[in-house]
Amino acid sequence: MKINEFINYLKEINVNVTEKELSLLEKYYEYLVEYNSHTNLTSITDKDLVYLKHFYDSISVAQSYDFTKELKVLDIGTGAGFPGVILKIFFPKLELVLLDSNNKKTTFLINLIEKLGLENVTVVNDRAENYIKQNRESFDIVISRAVANTAILLELGIPFLKVGGNLIVMKASSEVTNKELDNSKNTLPILKTKLINKKSFLLPVENSQRTIIIFKKNDVTDSKYPRSYDKILKKPLK
Ligand code: SAM
Repeated sequence: MKINEFINYLKEINVNVTEKELSLLEKYYEYLVEYNSHTNLTSITDKDLVYLKHFYDSISVAQSYDFTKELKVLDIGTGAGFPGVILKIFFPKLELVLLDSNNKKTTFLINLIEKLGLENVTVVNDRAENYIKQNRESFDIVISRAVANTAILLELGIPFLKVGGNLIVMKASSEVTNKELDNSKNTLPILKTKLINKKSFLLPVENSQRTIIIFKKNDVTDSKYPRSYDKILKKPLK
């Protein structure tokens, strides 16, 4: 996806891009490729593909959710900053926590945030099931792309949310997503959570499937959740 295509496809989902945002994305791309030359962050380094599969794919969630307000956002398993850093570039009012258990990735993110001059962003090197201990019920939004299946993300993510907050899960195939939703049918009432929106669409250019699922937390989460990661994996909430 060339830059002009990127701009045009963003217009189609009602996202305007300014010169400042384009220049931040360019710096992001350059630093991603530079860091990736010695430390593996992503297998995608071709510029057109990074703009498509990382930058556009990350911002595509803005067609399903209004990020323009002052919201406190947690990106679980953000990796090299997707979608969290891209959302922050386009929606600077967000207060963002980038969480990843991989130290090499969080080191990259700390440098990146400084290089881009982004404010109100905290990078945390930890596992979600540990970081939750001091951070229950404290975020407006928890978002995650390509980290785990929906049942796992529900159990890890919902306890972080304030009552009324939203968990946003970014997935690929709608068939897999539907299967995962079916498997998490019983998880939702246990976590006092409802599915409020599901949207499938095609990623431009390569026409691969994408699905965005949004859940709403309706009540305080029982303190026994999340269970240990081992238990979450072995015995999904059913
Ligand atoms: N979200 C990024 C993206 O879409 O490019 C990265 C996806 S990568 C496949 C999954 C990331 O999640 C890895 O960087 C891994 O370290 C992190 N991760 C997996 N489980 C985690 C957990 N329980 N807590 C924190 N980070 C986790």
